Amino acid sequence: MTDFGKLAGELDGTLFLPGDPGYAGECFTFHLLQPLTPDAAVGAASVADVQAAVRFAGANDLAVAVRGGGHLQTHSAAGALLITLDRMNGVTIDARRRTARITGAARWQEVIDAAAGAGLAPLSGSATTVSAIGYVLGGGQGPILSRRYGYASDHVTSFDIVTADGRARTVDAAHEPDLFAALRGGKGNFGVVTGMEIGLFPAATVVGGGIYFPGAATERLLPAWRDWAATLPEQATTSFAVQWLPPFEVLPPMLRGAHVVHLRYAYDGPAGIGTALLEPMRAVAPALLDTVAEVPYPVAAVLHNDPTEPAPVLHRSLGLAELADETLAELIRHAGPDLLSVEVRALGGALDRPPATPDSVPSRGLPYQLTAFALATPDDLARQAGNLAALIGALRPWADRRQMVNFLAPDEATDPAQLRVVYGPELYDRLLAVKRRYDPTSMFRMNHSIRPV
Ligand SMILES: Cc1cc2nc3c(=O)[nH]c(=O)nc-3n(C[C@H](O)[C@H](O)[C@H](O)COP(=O)(O)OP(=O)(O)OC[C@H]3O[C@@H](n4cnc5c(N)ncnc54)[C@H](O)[C@@H]3O)c2cc1C
Repeated sequence: MTDFGKLAGELDGTLFLPGDPGYAGECFTFHLLQPLTPDAAVGAASVADVQAAVRFAGANDLAVAVRGGGHLQTHSAAGALLITLDRMNGVTIDARRRTARITGAARWQEVIDAAAGAGLAPLSGSATTVSAIGYVLGGGQGPILSRRYGYASDHVTSFDIVTADGRARTVDAAHEPDLFAALRGGKGNFGVVTGMEIGLFPAATVVGGGIYFPGAATERLLPAWRDWAATLPEQATTSFAVQWLPPFEVLPPMLRGAHVVHLRYAYDGPAGIGTALLEPMRAVAPALLDTVAEVPYPVAAVLHNDPTEPAPVLHRSLGLAELADETLAELIRHAGPDLLSVEVRALGGALDRPPATPDSVPSRGLPYQLTAFALATPDDLARQAGNLAALIGALRPWADRRQMVNFLAPDEATDPAQLRVVYGPELYDRLLAVKRRYDPTSMFRMNHSIRPV
């Protein structure tokens, strides 16, 4: 039995053991089917707390799990020490330099709100409840500005990190450049990231929103979307999702329990041009709901309408090299009522270009990213996992080796063989070399684990 009492005495923050009031809250995650059950949770209040927790874990041969926004825990963390960072959250905007300094598990929403005051915006993702740091560690592709400016991790200028030896380091392109490159795409393998500085972009308003079309128009809409998306300039970003929405009252009445195609669209430029570019899609079918308009960035930021509450959800993901007519036919065939949402994002533009300094994002050049979600209860887990697997299997003929790391499902992210395929052997071996140097015993293995041992 590990004696956690000594660690509790060293902390500015709080240590929680199973059964303690507050333990369940500290172990919060969005995925109700994958609860966190660590041997202890450290609610760190300072970098010194993170160092103390990591050193304690090292001395007691414990694995360390990290929870940021709680959107994609790959393990239960049973037997491990969990570190949470909410007490360290902070966002400071430097409007003149167009940068944000972000600490702890600050969520994108906090960054968006702080930046908006200066007419600036971050390269946030579709869910603003995701932690900014957790997101950029996997690259980070957003629904508004990503085709214009690239992955969010391209615009990180420095990270503060506590590595497995308990040292607090600041790394950037000039200081420990190999670690800096590994952190931008290599996920949580190299330590606990306590802070970062990112670039912001002038985007006070954008054209953005979504169009919900009736599901009956799916067969016309998807080929039209594919052909239209290919013509868009880099200022425009789009995706679609075939959805069977639940009958929840939070949804507008026409969407409750409805089968829909949700087209998402954003344009960063003159509103007249952005609106005109969308016209061909507006003409394909009458909409149930159309919210696309020139709006402040914080309004557009949630244009996907991602859930904001924890849910019992399973997911799978796949990079797609093309969307042939047959690909779309298979997608439609498998995107039946059992699946909550089957989403395809059109990538390209700046997402294809190399970053200014080396990084570890493996998905550059990938044309499309698919992510599929299914609600499940413990009783029908296997059936729903089977439905997701059937979709992925049917689309395999059009798969690309590359995938966006952030969308890997837990079983995809924790399979070293699959991770090696996603990163490609050269990049994987580079990440492995950095892992061997900074975390030789694999203390940080409760994640998308690059395995040195
Ligand atoms: C609804 C939804 C929408 C999404 N939309 C997008 C999107 O538009 N674009 C995109 O790129 N991704 C998107 N994602 C994926 C998301 O970016 C990843 O799941 C990300 O890892 C979530 O980070 P988190 O901190 O919120 O989650 P957590 O579950 O807290 O963390 C996930 C993992 O990240 C690592 N981690 C997190 N914080 C730290 C830290 N400070 N130090 C070290 N390691 C850390 C840990 O390994 C941890 O296990 C979406 C996910 C969901 C669920």
